[in-house]
Amino acid sequence: MHVTDLKLFIRDVPDFPKPGIIFKDITPLLRNAAAFDTVIQQLAGRYSDEGVTQVVAIESRGFIFGSAVARSLGAGFVPIRKPGKLPWTKRRNEYILEYGSDALEIHDDALDPGDRVVIIDDVLATGGTALAASTLVREFSATLVGVGVVIELVFLNGREKLGGATPVQSLIRYD
Ligand code: AMP
Repeated sequence: MHVTDLKLFIRDVPDFPKPGIIFKDITPLLRNAAAFDTVIQQLAGRYSDEGVTQVVAIESRGFIFGSAVARSLGAGFVPIRKPGKLPWTKRRNEYILEYGSDALEIHDDALDPGDRVVIIDDVLATGGTALAASTLVREFSATLVGVGVVIELVFLNGREKLGGATPVQSLIRYD
C-alpha cells in the first residue's frame, strides 16, 4: 500500500534534545509498514537508473533507511559513524551540527574510485552533516550521485550549503 501524506507519520517533539529544537521523530513512520515501504520505494526509486554501487548512510537514524535503500538498489552499504565507533583505519571530517559540533568517520577501504554513491540520512537540517559525509565520499574520488533524506528542514538552507553540484532528494519538507 502506498502512503500519500508521509508528513502524518512524523511527530514533532519540542525542546528535544535541547531547548528550541523541534525534533522530527520518525518512529511513528517506521512502525507503519506501508509508510516505511513508501519511504524506501521513493528514496530508492529516484536512483534506480543511476548505477549506484554503494549507499553511504550516517549514524544512526540514517542506517535505518540506508540499509533498506541499499537492498532495494542491489548496492552495498557503507556506514559513516561518530568518532571512535569504527574499528579499522579511518578518515575523519569535522562539522557543525544544528545543535553543537561533531565529527564523522569512514573506513579507509570503504569506497573505490569507481563507486557511484548515494548518501542517505533521516533529516537534512543545516546541511553540515551531509556536507561532511559528501566531503568524505569525494576524498575517495567516488562519484556522488546524490543525497537522499526523508525530511528536509528547508528554512535551514542545508541544500545551499551542499552546493549546486550535489542533487538533493527529500520526501517531506518543512518550509
Ligand atoms: P545538520 O547537520 O544540521 O543538517 O543536521 C542533520 C543531522 O542532525 C541528521 O543526522 C539528523 O538526524 C539530525 N537532526 C538535525 N536536526 C534535527 C531535527 N530537528 N530533528 C531530528 N533530527 C535532527
